[in-house]
Amino acid sequence: MRVFQESLKIGELATGQDLTIPIFKLKALHASGPSVYIQANVHGAEVQGNAVIYQLMKRLEQYNICGDITLVPLANPLGINQKSGEFTLGRFDPITGVNWNREYLAHDIDLVDWYQNNKTLNDTDLIHAYKKCLLESCQSRLQSEWGITTGHQQAVMLQSMAHQADIVLDLHTGPKSCKHLYCPQYDVQAASYFSIPYTLLIPNDFGGAMDESIFCPWWQLSEHMKSTGREMDVPVSAFTLELGSQENIHLEDALADAMGILAYLSHRGVIAEKVEPVDMPRYACHLTDYKKYHSPLGGMVEYLAKVGEPLAAKEPLANILRIDLYGTDKALTQLSLNQDCVPILHFASASVYQGTELYKVMTNVFEI
Ligand SMILES: [Zn+2]
Repeated sequence: MRVFQESLKIGELATGQDLTIPIFKLKALHASGPSVYIQANVHGAEVQGNAVIYQLMKRLEQYNICGDITLVPLANPLGINQKSGEFTLGRFDPITGVNWNREYLAHDIDLVDWYQNNKTLNDTDLIHAYKKCLLESCQSRLQSEWGITTGHQQAVMLQSMAHQADIVLDLHTGPKSCKHLYCPQYDVQAASYFSIPYTLLIPNDFGGAMDESIFCPWWQLSEHMKSTGREMDVPVSAFTLELGSQENIHLEDALADAMGILAYLSHRGVIAEKVEPVDMPRYACHLTDYKKYHSPLGGMVEYLAKVGEPLAAKEPLANILRIDLYGTDKALTQLSLNQDCVPILHFASASVYQGTELYKVMTNVFEI
């Protein structure tokens, strides 16, 4: 294995300095397996993915890699440096207000027309041609004569690198969160390799996130081909790994997640050595059963339900303290849900407006 370090310019500051991100390219001596792209920290406060990349690189030094691996930590320098007081903001572009992970490009490709023109190609050549088409679409977006927003430019440059790989992992965290995985429905068996107890099975809908920007175009192609009577598996795998809570670096935990990633890469033939997944129960629900609970009132919050632990219907979720109403029955309100769930994450702050997304919970959970 050879390791190359590069730096990619993804923007420019008002004072003229370049915004750059570090890129590590691990090149296989004889590439025979799938190629991999892993990025971290697109949301500024979600720093743990950098620690996972550190542990991955340390472990990969001991393995024989059979596929090229591109690692992009610190993928959003503007977001990572967007501090306010003790906290990192960095979830939304401060100029446009757009979530940094909703900036990826939806390709405007006429699939019916494209397939009509390319259907005589065998699968290998078809995949090559479609990948080229996706990369050209990114390039033309980047070179628009009308320019491109800061966030969109950064995202599409990252997306261009990711489109070149067969396996794409986007490392995030929740606010206060247990570990969970966003996994496309067609790839559910992959969830049994990562060291992650909860999986959200997502459909073929593009909402602007990195993982969807990678698998949606291929899933659509595969579905269209199926409708014409030709079977082709979706040739890319893309996942978002939510590795616990934001504003947290934990090296031992990062090693556990790196080993889960290595178990998946071993299964896929990216590394020659056998790395077994951790033997642990894993659960899932469909995205439609992943519910947001918005606070019915404003106030101070005591979060009672632990993330990652099943919560029975009517069990307490949180207390809302309204000290201004002391002496009335509204001073303390206990919140609960009418159905069983598993709380996956909750809001990071202990004070909320009415309507704040207080918890996100999985319902209709099943073992996978
Ligand atoms: Zn995130």
